[in-house]
Amino acid sequence: MPQLFDIVGKTIANWYQIHKRVLPWRETTDAYKIWISEIILQQTRVDQALGYFSRFVERFPNVESLAQASEEEVLKYWQGLGYYSRARNLHFAAQHIVAKHHSIFPSSHKEVLALKGIGDYTAAAICSFSYNMPYAVVDGNVFRVLSRLFGITTPINSTQGKKEFSLLAEKLLNKKNPSLHNQAIMEFGALQCVPKSPNCIQCPLQEFCVAFASNLVKTLPVKTKKIVQRERFFNYFFIKKGTETILQKRTQNDIWKNLYQFPLIETEKLSEVEDLLKHPFLNDKRFVIKKTSSVYKHVLSHQIIYARFFTIETYDDLFPENKEFIAIPISNLSGFPVPRLMEIFIEKNLEN
Ligand code: SF4
Repeated sequence: MPQLFDIVGKTIANWYQIHKRVLPWRETTDAYKIWISEIILQQTRVDQALGYFSRFVERFPNVESLAQASEEEVLKYWQGLGYYSRARNLHFAAQHIVAKHHSIFPSSHKEVLALKGIGDYTAAAICSFSYNMPYAVVDGNVFRVLSRLFGITTPINSTQGKKEFSLLAEKLLNKKNPSLHNQAIMEFGALQCVPKSPNCIQCPLQEFCVAFASNLVKTLPVKTKKIVQRERFFNYFFIKKGTETILQKRTQNDIWKNLYQFPLIETEKLSEVEDLLKHPFLNDKRFVIKKTSSVYKHVLSHQIIYARFFTIETYDDLFPENKEFIAIPISNLSGFPVPRLMEIFIEKNLEN
């Protein structure tokens, strides 16, 4: 095995030198920038991540600037990426680094792993890419390459699978150049050993690949059944009084915490407008329903949101008695961090 590991490692490293993409986070060893890129890449494809990454590090070029920003601004720069807890964790961890590490990104694996929002994968990525420390990364690409190459059928999302693959990745790691090795195997999974129809005929690892020899490429890696997604029904009220509208901050421990939204009524199923109008939130107001949107379907990892937007005009005060709501000029809507679902509605209906 050690000899096979050596050949596999060298082959992937050679392939990488020829095929690697030029990406901004690969042009630096700055742990802060690598951290930001890794958190962004956890939820988006590389092509989309490029824009988010450059805007984020341009506005927050180092730990201090991120720590000093308001959470609202950080969320605004994150808008559209989803998983907003990751942005809040970045902000929190930046403040922690300023307070506890004199604004210098920690350089020990233990301290990096202790930062909020950083798990095994991200700690290994930061420590190997920035400091060339011998920690093997195991992301979705690496799981796929290893399971096919070595014909492993243990589900990659099971506890046993995670242990088995981590152990194998550690053994395969080139301890002399962990940064290059990790980047190479991840890129190999992203470009060569892709999820669907990989080009096995022109693969430099074909002769060693168990999945290719056993016709298992299509079935590997194995994943245990997906969790059932919960369905939710959101009714948003875009309430206009002249040039103003109202927003509400989501403060509960739920999706999109601390983002803003139009006042919302959540129902058990798609409701009739008449039923919604009986809701105490609306029933003592004088208003006219100007428009009802079609149903927007928004899919998250654990939930599917079905949303409708009701555009309403009112002559009454905009809920001045309730601190939960803030009245703002409609033209200022784009200055608030909002869920992607609302952003789509705003883009379609309010922006030219
Ligand atoms: S032969 Fe196919 S399945 Fe095996 S490593 Fe290469 S691309 Fe992946």
